[in-house]
Amino acid sequence: MNQTITKIYLDYAATTPLDSRVLQAMLPFFQENFGNPSSIHWYGQQAEAALEDARESVARVLNCQPSEIIFTASGSESNNLALRGTALAARISRQANHLLISPVEHHAVSRTARQLAELEKIEVELLPVDRFGCVDPQQVARRIRPTTALVSVVYANNEIGSINPIKEIGAICRQHGIPLQTDAVQAAAYLPVNVETLNVDFLSIGAHKFYGPKGVGVLYARKLASRLLIPSITGGGQEFGLRAGTQNIPYIIGLATALTLAENEREQRVEYLKPLRDGLVEEILGKIPETILTGHPDHRLPNHASFVFHNVDGNALLMSLDMAGFACSSGSACKTGNPEPSEVLTAIGLSRDWALGSLRVTLGLGTTAEQVEKFISILPVLVEKARRTRS
Ligand SMILES: *Cc1c(COP(=O)(O)O)cnc(C)c1O
Repeated sequence: MNQTITKIYLDYAATTPLDSRVLQAMLPFFQENFGNPSSIHWYGQQAEAALEDARESVARVLNCQPSEIIFTASGSESNNLALRGTALAARISRQANHLLISPVEHHAVSRTARQLAELEKIEVELLPVDRFGCVDPQQVARRIRPTTALVSVVYANNEIGSINPIKEIGAICRQHGIPLQTDAVQAAAYLPVNVETLNVDFLSIGAHKFYGPKGVGVLYARKLASRLLIPSITGGGQEFGLRAGTQNIPYIIGLATALTLAENEREQRVEYLKPLRDGLVEEILGKIPETILTGHPDHRLPNHASFVFHNVDGNALLMSLDMAGFACSSGSACKTGNPEPSEVLTAIGLSRDWALGSLRVTLGLGTTAEQVEKFISILPVLVEKARRTRS
């Protein structure tokens, strides 16, 4: 029955399909050029050359040295390495025992911080955020300490799309000589990720959010700061001794290709998606009563729309959207079946009767104006239904 309904994907913040150009770049590295980059012989040298080319392309986009690029297996792993690696190292090198993070971090940051608090007795302090989920740099200035191991603030939020003033936060961290990490996993698809202008010491990305493969990421680690990083995965000396394990060459090639395409085509992509998104937001807010746009109205990802509907069961709404052929999300992808309101929506001050009715609609390069129109015409009906069945 469902097969006859046209499927419309509006969940590009959860993941994106692989760009065909990326797939083409990856293919030779599965069978023809399959060597281990650590091997001495010709096969190894070919693989190593490809690996170092990929590292250089990534460094060009991030505006850093290739030796500051650490390839990992996900955006989550990059965040883990930045937090755990820095917290453990800074405790040894300068008795630092304090982590300063925002309350709207992805779980890859917030749960890592929680584990560090529980197992390592590291004090984790949450920064305040405004009603859009944005961090005020002055609040960082007020809370940063000489014993702060790391400040970690998400660049662009996955649930509500808000963009944080990373450059300004970074300037404050610099003044105090404390490293700043930013989770740029969501941001890298649409925002500049130049680590010099951003004033960051660590930056995490993951390829599958920008039309690259799943299961590969990068941690940028500034030279001076990265010396103070304890590896999580120990073993061989790969990735400058900071991340053991034979590198996944095809996926790394895929990440580098996808990132370069994202950088080169950034303006076009934003110009295409932003008007579609703006139209969608305007229509939804106009057509559906008791609706709030979550996240910042302007400082937000150009493909990202997120709402809460008063007294609506968000999960029921997602299911009825799915039945109608629309793939959306209520927040972060792994939240299905969770009856608790999202931590992010709670942090921006929404009460339960609002926060449980959340919907995230994220557009991408496969989205057409026609798809958005179809969505706009069906959503008011489904929200109305989800409201009736709940009361
Ligand atoms: C998707 C996402 C992650 C996790 O990245 P994976 O590569 O899926 O592990 C981390 N942070 C943000 C903001 C994300 O959107």
